[in-house]
Amino acid sequence: MSSAILVVGGGFSGLTAALEAAELGYEVYIIEKEPFLGGRVSQLNKYFPKLCPPSCGLEIQFQRIKKNPKVKFFTQAELIELKGEKGNYLAKIKIAPRYTSAHSANLKELSESLNGEKISEFEFKLTNRKALYLNTPFAFPNRYVLDKSAITKSDQIKLASCSDINLNDTEKEIELNIGSIVFATGWKPYDATRLSNLGAGQLTNCISNMQLERLASPCGPTLGKIQRPSDSEAPRNVAFVQCAGSRDQNHLNYCSYICCMASLKQALYIREQYPKAEITIYYIDLRAPGRYDNMLKRIKADPKITLIKGKVAGIKEDCANKDIIIEVEDAIKAEKWEKRHDLVVLATGMQPSLAGQKLPFNIDLDEDGFILDAESKGIFAAGCASKPLDVMRSAQSGTSAAMKAIQVVRGR
Ligand code: SF4
Repeated sequence: MSSAILVVGGGFSGLTAALEAAELGYEVYIIEKEPFLGGRVSQLNKYFPKLCPPSCGLEIQFQRIKKNPKVKFFTQAELIELKGEKGNYLAKIKIAPRYTSAHSANLKELSESLNGEKISEFEFKLTNRKALYLNTPFAFPNRYVLDKSAITKSDQIKLASCSDINLNDTEKEIELNIGSIVFATGWKPYDATRLSNLGAGQLTNCISNMQLERLASPCGPTLGKIQRPSDSEAPRNVAFVQCAGSRDQNHLNYCSYICCMASLKQALYIREQYPKAEITIYYIDLRAPGRYDNMLKRIKADPKITLIKGKVAGIKEDCANKDIIIEVEDAIKAEKWEKRHDLVVLATGMQPSLAGQKLPFNIDLDEDGFILDAESKGIFAAGCASKPLDVMRSAQSGTSAAMKAIQVVRGR
């Protein structure tokens, strides 16, 4: 029997689950497949309920991890095998090489001198990143990671002469004996390119809501300036298209819960930067539960924001200036009409990260790929791995999963 807990996923809910268990005296291991902890929250400009920047909540979590010897974490790490049973598992973890020393926080100059770059997945392909990089200034661990596939020959010479770089670093495998597991594997934005009628991935000025978060972020590709991708101009007439992929039998057959609130928040980003900008939100239902209703009231009271109840049937581009023309089936007027916008934001839905993946271990998923608690196996789900949630509810769900995992390792 082992009293240690494994947390798979180092986003907000995984960090919360790990810290709650560790602060009650249990040994916890976090494994995170990305090079840095923080998950999706680290990609946001601001998050609910207080509209704080992500550094605010995450830095508190990172400090708690640093101070607590009961929490150990592994980044670029994946669970590749799970043997055993509730109370006594052997987890095999594969850890990708980072190629940098543990004290490599000061590689900014070297990073900037390199020629090698790759499209940044962290920035949702809005820009490139260097081969040697940190995702954000508050990245944790604050340790550069090298993407060897992106380096050039001249980069190789520079990197080889740096004592903080080990180009011969190799993949490792470790085994952990644990009693219970919390899966906090998070979510991914629904692949909007599958929504062929909405123009994602084809029309330059049609972006996803997560791309808008990166454009609005002070550490994003435009240093916080929201602009049209086609010409870097300030948008003057922006559309939000709700339920892009959600509540649709052919895509995500459920409400993604967060995307109405995300669009309301993002409408405020635009209004703050561009007081004269006009905004139209096309929706089927607008969901702002509990105290978020206050934000909806604020939006409704804004004369520059128009809410249109109707389905967006199609989106096309004006080739001359890359404006976007939206075709709407207006549900109130019962008619079809078109409207021109210079930037369109698709409120793309939330899909569990594990959806559609072949997993090397046995866990219970529902038909949409959300993880189900399996008390008999000592396996629990936290955060958006279990259902669509906002950050606050994700953290609550992390706490709840930690308490269930503790019951298992205590043998109750
Ligand atoms: Fe649609 Fe709003 Fe639900 Fe998102 S939260 S799926 S935009 S109703």
